[in-house]
Amino acid sequence: MDKKYILSLDAGTTSCRAIIFDKYGSIINISKKEFKQIYLNDGWVEHDAIEIWATMMGVVREVIEISDILPQEISCIGITNQRETTVLWNKKTGKPVYNAIVWQCRRTSQYCNELDKNGYSELIKDKTGLKIDAYFSASKIKWIIDNVDGVKEDIEAGDILFGTIDTWLIWNLTRGSVHATDYTNASRTMIFNIKDLKWDAELLKLFGINKNMLPEVKPSSFIYGYTDKSMLAGAQIPISGCAGDQQASMFGQLCFNKGDVKNTYGTGCFVMMNTGDKPVNSNYGLLTTIAWGVDGKVEYALEGSIFIGGSLIQWLRDELRMIDSSQESEYYATKVEDNNGVYIVPAFTGLGAPYWDMYARGTIVGLTRNSRKEHIIRACLEAIAYQSKDVISSMSEDSGVDINILKVDGAASDNSFLMQFQSNLLGIGIIKSRFTESTALGAAFLAGLGCGVYKNKNEIKKITDKEKIYNPSKSNLDYEKFYKTWKRAVKRSLDWSNDT
Ligand code: ADP
Repeated sequence: MDKKYILSLDAGTTSCRAIIFDKYGSIINISKKEFKQIYLNDGWVEHDAIEIWATMMGVVREVIEISDILPQEISCIGITNQRETTVLWNKKTGKPVYNAIVWQCRRTSQYCNELDKNGYSELIKDKTGLKIDAYFSASKIKWIIDNVDGVKEDIEAGDILFGTIDTWLIWNLTRGSVHATDYTNASRTMIFNIKDLKWDAELLKLFGINKNMLPEVKPSSFIYGYTDKSMLAGAQIPISGCAGDQQASMFGQLCFNKGDVKNTYGTGCFVMMNTGDKPVNSNYGLLTTIAWGVDGKVEYALEGSIFIGGSLIQWLRDELRMIDSSQESEYYATKVEDNNGVYIVPAFTGLGAPYWDMYARGTIVGLTRNSRKEHIIRACLEAIAYQSKDVISSMSEDSGVDINILKVDGAASDNSFLMQFQSNLLGIGIIKSRFTESTALGAAFLAGLGCGVYKNKNEIKKITDKEKIYNPSKSNLDYEKFYKTWKRAVKRSLDWSNDT
């Protein structure tokens, strides 16, 4: 049977999506279903891992059905997932010993602060590229071991497996025959040494984790195993691609060369830069991580996130009620020539890279009697661009690489004013891809590469297409001056909630 399709499984934080692509990257169909978010006290967040598995199989079966194809026509499966979220399960029963602890969950913050105070930051940064934080899997694994009755004994007996959501899905799809993850997901656990590409014995000891429960770490393009015959009408489809969500999106955006950068403008903004075959240490608090393992080698990336991106526009809509929809922000921003000196620093929960100040709070400066609603709306969109420039410039300095193009996706990248302003501010071109689902597409490309649908990355490059290009426009506006004023505004917001 002609195997024309690639199935991509996107296991996100709030929903599971299954997407069927043809081999030219076009979407045939998407099925999506949300699953339960379990919020407990004090910022604890959990998911039911069994529900994630059932939801994913539900959307997989649905998308195959609505596309009117047979599972046998699917050449391969790629997986992309919410990173860091931690599941421990019993390999005899297939049952999780506790709910999945979600990346957002803060239950281990205090323990992580103690590690920091006890001087482990340098060691952990050096080995894993990460800043000690409760986001990453290590302290979550430790929490389950320390708090769930009987788990220690079952680990001793070799019955317990750990995995991030990719690993959990692969294990279930292969009916328990494959326990594996890829380099990108491993690089977010805080126990994986990103230089020698091994689980790190010293860190395992620090967190009290037994090596026997850890998955094998494989390239991101690789045949992990085959779907068990019982899953999809007897089809044994190779699972041949896997990467964490941000890395998959970077692959889907074709950031294949050193210096290529992508920014996803969603609720927050996620910037990633390919730094080639060597990990780059950041002086600005960016994370060093694995971009992917493809073609027999591993490539690295710098990663920076902006906490408040598109959600600043939501705030304008829902709290300030200045606009009725996010899209409307573009209309108002273009009704004025400039921001009229108004700057908004959206440090609602502190500021991340390059400032790293948890005591910073939001501020609006430069108001005069002439300030209008349009200026405030414009200042909000500009703030998304200024924050992105802060991160992108830090990446350029850390890596010593000049950045000359930015690839963009995420809902707020539909805002032409924002994209043009960003291009002018950075002084470089911006490419918006015709493919909107870059995360799922990245997983599909990785899978296609892993099982021979594509011979190499060049073949993938040929099939993709740009939707829109923004180049810096000739303008009388002084963007350097704007950026300097932004930096002054940031200074006003720093250390605010600590400064009584
Ligand atoms: P996520 O994947 O993070 O949930 P999306 O990529 O769907 O997010 O982006 C949603 C965010 O983008 C929202 O915060 C919304 O306010 C913002 N957004 C959507 N469209 C626009 C637009 N045209 N201009 C500015 N912001 C927008």
